[in-house]
Amino acid sequence: MEVQYICPTAYDSSVYLVNKKVLIDAGMNGNLVLRELEKYIEISDLELIILTHCHHDHAAGAAGIVEKSGAGVGIHKADFDAVNDDRLSVSLLFGERAPTVKPTISYKEGDRIPIGNGEILEVIHTPGHSRGSICLYEPISKSLFSGDTVFAGGGTGRTDFDGCEPEKMLGSVEKLTKLDVKKLYPGHGGPTDSDGNKQVMASYRMLKAMSGVF
Ligand SMILES: [Zn+2]
Ligand SMILES: [Zn+2]
Repeated sequence: MEVQYICPTAYDSSVYLVNKKVLIDAGMNGNLVLRELEKYIEISDLELIILTHCHHDHAAGAAGIVEKSGAGVGIHKADFDAVNDDRLSVSLLFGERAPTVKPTISYKEGDRIPIGNGEILEVIHTPGHSRGSICLYEPISKSLFSGDTVFAGGGTGRTDFDGCEPEKMLGSVEKLTKLDVKKLYPGHGGPTDSDGNKQVMASYRMLKAMSGVF
């Protein structure tokens, strides 16, 4: 699997171009992402944008990218409508309206998304940060795209927004500890090439310790 990491601005989500045809998350600024993508591909070659969840900083850039590429847009079924909701997409916190992108594919736990070269991304439903948060696992390179569920270095996404399910977060992160993860591609911050398992476990331990407090 070939991955290009695109970091539009410090406020946008991380954006990953996979196998030169699939985008994971879209950031907030479609034009900035398109300019970066042009360094690697013909925009019309982009086939699919997968949103790890419905939040503004991951999804607002998608509409502009779809307009130029014609790519399909996939998101978990529990976030499918939420992405167009001002409140559930946390757009109001950014002083903005909800993303205008219209998803075309709805995912569920266990779906296998073909990404070319015989490779797939497996959909792992990890509710907590949002109802329809997903992580995407590529088993050959043992890569995990973790959205805002788990961050590098040990950390997990906030669970105090509208639409969060804080009581499900620990179970979701625990699910990730069962995977064999080498490379971690988080929803904020750059990817890490090794020690994915250690970082997922650190996130789990931190969350478990915090859960014990309340
Ligand atoms: Zn985010
Ligand atoms: Zn988020």
